[in-house]
Amino acid sequence: MNQGERYDPWELVFRGYKPDEESLRETLCALGNGVFVTRGAAEESTADGTHYPGTYLAGGYNRLVSRVGDQDVSNEDLVNLPNWLPLTFRIDDGDWFDLATVEILEFEQKLLIRDGILERRCRFRDAKRRETTLLSRRLVSMAEPHSAALMWLLVPDNWGGHLQIRSLLQGRVENAGVSRYRQLRGDHVEVLDAGVDGQAVWLHAKTTQSRIEIVETARTSVLDESGSPVAVESGVSSSSVRQDASVEARAGEPVHVEKLVSIFTSRDPALGDLREDAVADVRRNIGFDALARRHVRAWHSLWERCDVEVEVEDGCDLEPFSIQCALRVHAFHLLQTASGNTIGRDVGIPARGWHGEAYRGHVFWDEMFVLPFYSRVLPDLAESLMMYRVRRLEAARTNATLDGVEGALFPWQSGSSGREETQQIHLNPRSGAWDPDRSRLQRHVNAAIVVEVLRYVREQVDHAFMRRHGMDLLTEIARLWVSLAEWNDVRHAYEILGVVGPDEFHETSPGSGEDGLRNNAYTNIMASWCLRQAIIEVERLDDVGRRELESRVGLRADEIEQWRDIAARLYVPTDHEGNIDAFEGYSDLIELDWEAYRTKYGRIGRLDRILRAEGDSPDRYKLAKQADLVMLFYVLPAAEWKPLLASLGHSLSEGNVVRLVENYERRTSHGSTLSHIVHAGVLADLHAEGAWQHFVSALRSDLEDTQGGTTAEGIHAAIMAGTIQHVVERFAGIRIAGDFLDVRPALPPQLRSVRVPIEFRGRHVDILIGRDAVRIQVGSGGASGEAVPVDVNGQRVYVPPGGWRTVSA
Ligand code: BGC
Repeated sequence: MNQGERYDPWELVFRGYKPDEESLRETLCALGNGVFVTRGAAEESTADGTHYPGTYLAGGYNRLVSRVGDQDVSNEDLVNLPNWLPLTFRIDDGDWFDLATVEILEFEQKLLIRDGILERRCRFRDAKRRETTLLSRRLVSMAEPHSAALMWLLVPDNWGGHLQIRSLLQGRVENAGVSRYRQLRGDHVEVLDAGVDGQAVWLHAKTTQSRIEIVETARTSVLDESGSPVAVESGVSSSSVRQDASVEARAGEPVHVEKLVSIFTSRDPALGDLREDAVADVRRNIGFDALARRHVRAWHSLWERCDVEVEVEDGCDLEPFSIQCALRVHAFHLLQTASGNTIGRDVGIPARGWHGEAYRGHVFWDEMFVLPFYSRVLPDLAESLMMYRVRRLEAARTNATLDGVEGALFPWQSGSSGREETQQIHLNPRSGAWDPDRSRLQRHVNAAIVVEVLRYVREQVDHAFMRRHGMDLLTEIARLWVSLAEWNDVRHAYEILGVVGPDEFHETSPGSGEDGLRNNAYTNIMASWCLRQAIIEVERLDDVGRRELESRVGLRADEIEQWRDIAARLYVPTDHEGNIDAFEGYSDLIELDWEAYRTKYGRIGRLDRILRAEGDSPDRYKLAKQADLVMLFYVLPAAEWKPLLASLGHSLSEGNVVRLVENYERRTSHGSTLSHIVHAGVLADLHAEGAWQHFVSALRSDLEDTQGGTTAEGIHAAIMAGTIQHVVERFAGIRIAGDFLDVRPALPPQLRSVRVPIEFRGRHVDILIGRDAVRIQVGSGGASGEAVPVDVNGQRVYVPPGGWRTVSA
């Protein structure tokens, strides 16, 4: 983006062709519909180091075993599917179009966020001084989850001649989007068959191990300058299908090309014959414009339901994109990762979207940050996404058994089956060494699942979900904590050993020879919280519900007493002055010379890699990748963490928290984008300016790729949702509190107003927060005439359907 220019907050505009930025733009301009996502790579491009075309199916994984040194390494990856994008041309049998070999006269790429359309306008001059203008538009249909389409207008500005257009479905693809993984195998797809069916071509492929079948079909049509269709010739090769057309082009007269595509997979519901259904679909396809109209309508209704609007005070906005634009880009990519089209499909929330191959499309604890976004606007989608964990409860029980513990052990990285997918070794790109990876010891992912379930159930009052699924999750996770907790007679407390905290940089205590840390404070405190919550929820069940639970999970009365005992006596580590320590032994670690490292390396987010490449270890230092103990104050409101900590022997005031956060923050490298949104959240009520700075860093992180290369490999879904939820929960102060909406605005000086839409009990509610007043409007019509109860700073109003109320703030 060009500095200093202001853009429409519904557009993300890139001017000029910058090969170095292409891979980032491809992620930011990816299009998807909650079923599949295609990166914003140019149609004529190939995976050549500058570009990386990729199409990914939600939940489309495949496992391969690679040889690294003398080890077999098994990885389950999100698969790059056959490429449906290729569309190119050549003039008078010359070379196929390649942006790298022409002189670019004008170039602009625009993501139309409101419409879900990607546009490119490019004018260039080739070696023979022929000038051409290419306009392209692209969509992945939000209205028809199998459809995607391209439209090109090619204008020979100063030449005439023989123009050959080529459109392909390219089956020879591999996973090569993340350079760190390139020593690992990426040949996930094999082409089974390809053919021609009337005006359509099709390509049938399958993933090698998970046997997901994919059929892509395309229908390409070309209109000459008079608008008459040109003959299209189709052909098949071993790994691709093509459609070619030739036109006698004349100067100044546009040639119109359309490529309509359908993608079906064996994971689709309501399927008959995969190939027949896909071919029938592309035949039925109504042309780019009609498809675009339906797609744009679908996006507009999504925005009506989801768009958070902010009005920024003069001089407080961001450059070059506005805060509003950043928030919309974030919502856009979240809605492309999961949308109404996703409901009922067996997919979780991938930490990096379906936008690239980073972290292999796996599901982490990041879903805890993302679910509230969906729950606010599309609660049925939130429920559907939570079913991903519910369906993997059995696998979590097996993980526990394999680890020698009881209950359910949800994996740190989860893919198709729910088994642990975290790699055993990972490449340090700084040193080229394959280091052991102990991140799987992050047991706190299990607490995150409890947080998600309870938040969803309490917000949506979904008793059925709780009774049928939530109770089983809570019970089995409680059993996990019981099994992990070990009684220490000297301390007279329960301990949890051998874990890694959210910080991730510390994997062992120096010299201990142990895997993992002893007593990570966040993990222990959250374990105590989970046990307490499990007790509350079991006690809430009526006798029938209790018997059902007992019959499903064999719950015994004495177990609850054990939960109570462990919850009350979990050990919280302290330093020599009695302050809570991030983990046992943290305060004995040595200080890092932060300034020296900053000076030497500049970007030091990944201090772990830096230190290891130096032959040192982060385990020796007081440092953190991201919020660890500080997470506690993000995840739990003060009304919960205060009594919880007090019962574990620590009385903390907000003032203590400010000092604690400052202490840890000074020693945090923010090597994960999550860190900013957590610090922003924790500081919101304690240190407004600090909170705002973190909020801004979070807003910039993907748009400016502040981590230097990670966004090109996929979005950071948690930060995208986290920033929007920050506006909703901290600035607008809105929470769905079960049977009412609780509004306690705290607009920062930088914002004039915030407007938040919410789905509350099936009703659309729109809340406008201004400096002096809060205006609540409730959608009209519908079956229920019940008014929506809203508390504004504790003052209750009832807003009837179709009505509005204004309350002074
Ligand atoms: C962070 C984790 C996060 C993962 C996936 C890592 O860099 O440290 O907390 O779950 O990325 O986003």
